[in-house]
Amino acid sequence: MTRTRVAPSPTGYPHIGTAYQALFDFVYAKKDPRGKFIIRIEDTDKKRFVEGAEQVVYKSLEWLGLLADESPVNGGKYGPYRQSERLDLYQKYASELVERGHAYYCFCSQERIDALREEQEKNHLPPMYDGFCKKLTSDEIQQKIANGEKYVIRMRIPEDEIITVHDSIRGEVKFLSKILDDQVLVKSDGFPTYHLAVVVDDHLMEITHVIRGEEWLSSAPKHILLYKFFGWEEPIWTHLPLLRNPNKGKISKRMGHASIFWYRDEGYLPETVLNFIALTIWGRDKDHEMFSVSDMIKEFDFSKIRIAAPVLDIAKLDWLNGVYIRNLSILDLKKRLIQFDQPIQFLDQNKLDKVLSLIKERMRRLKEFWDLADYFFADPKISKEEMVKQMLKESKLSPSKTIKDLSYLSNLKLLRWEAKEIDEALHKSQDNSQTPPRQFFMPIRIALTGKSQTPPLANVMEVLGKDEVVKRIATAKNHLA
Ligand code: GLU
Repeated sequence: MTRTRVAPSPTGYPHIGTAYQALFDFVYAKKDPRGKFIIRIEDTDKKRFVEGAEQVVYKSLEWLGLLADESPVNGGKYGPYRQSERLDLYQKYASELVERGHAYYCFCSQERIDALREEQEKNHLPPMYDGFCKKLTSDEIQQKIANGEKYVIRMRIPEDEIITVHDSIRGEVKFLSKILDDQVLVKSDGFPTYHLAVVVDDHLMEITHVIRGEEWLSSAPKHILLYKFFGWEEPIWTHLPLLRNPNKGKISKRMGHASIFWYRDEGYLPETVLNFIALTIWGRDKDHEMFSVSDMIKEFDFSKIRIAAPVLDIAKLDWLNGVYIRNLSILDLKKRLIQFDQPIQFLDQNKLDKVLSLIKERMRRLKEFWDLADYFFADPKISKEEMVKQMLKESKLSPSKTIKDLSYLSNLKLLRWEAKEIDEALHKSQDNSQTPPRQFFMPIRIALTGKSQTPPLANVMEVLGKDEVVKRIATAKNHLA
């Protein structure tokens, strides 16, 4: 049975990288009808504790619909799922490693470690512990502990081994053990480091596939050694290539789009965001770029991943979200706008439906709704001076001729106030006016909407209604007079 997990450290910041990992963990687990996706909170770094940070993790993944089968909130039979509640376990396993000679007590002071680092740096050597405490006898160790000396527990890395990480994307990646540091497993405050806790938990929680960011690939050999020391079976490893900006730079927190909440607050749909993230490494041909999480569950396989650095291209995201919005039914779009905190329930619903079907084509982010729709529900948001300036710029005619052209709209005699008839009447008027089309239509558009880009004029006029059109034209003519 497939079991995957995402294991964020609660920093209070919902990084898009967490969504990216969680998506592949989720999808991979769900390929197995009995598979489970787990959220484990890795909160053993007391210095980095942030109030409410865990909620941020849940809220952001929930928004994306990546719901966990087991988590600190949902529970499950492998709990607790918060590392700070599992400290005695790490202690127990660390002691076991010491007893079996795979780990040792290290009493070196911070000053000694710092001096060592400095020396190594001077000599252009990689910063590594020099194994000073490896030589201590058990009597010396007992004595130091009895004296209350502080210690950490370090992993005893074998001297000359080749450790092979079998990665489902990269194949075999080999590491020489001599470049690995004797990793601290238990800190002087008794808390485990990530390396010990992650291996113990992944084993005890029976995680079958560890799917995580590439930044952990260099730690994988240490983890593999720990599995070997304990005599446990390794999970299948997958290290996802790091997401980058189109200029190949790192996605740093200074950029809005590093946060999952940025996507939510700009008005991207969660399904677009998941599709978009998946596309960054899942090479698909142009005709098959849109897919849902359930399509992904059916079709995804690690052999389909492109290893080249994946980029978050926001222009592409805008395009994709536009397509998703266009494909929503009006009812669904209204629901999304309400979830997005747009108080559209107070608008005339009949009119709103018509407006939405007109502007849906142009909306790329939900937050653009008011910008695209405001003039349907209120007078154009443009000052008198600005309106005059723009109308004349577009008509390239005198104010009196522009007024004359607008006047055609005051006298439209139509059987039915419908876009098709309006359109015909508009073109007939333009013919009669002898003003070139753009110079004729643009001032009307500005008079009615205050904007130079809108859906087709006849459709806008149908939704506005005849009385409103006549009123706005009269106002514009007054402004020009
Ligand atoms: N706590 C680690 C992180 O914040 C998890 C790494 C892993 O998935 O092994 O990224």
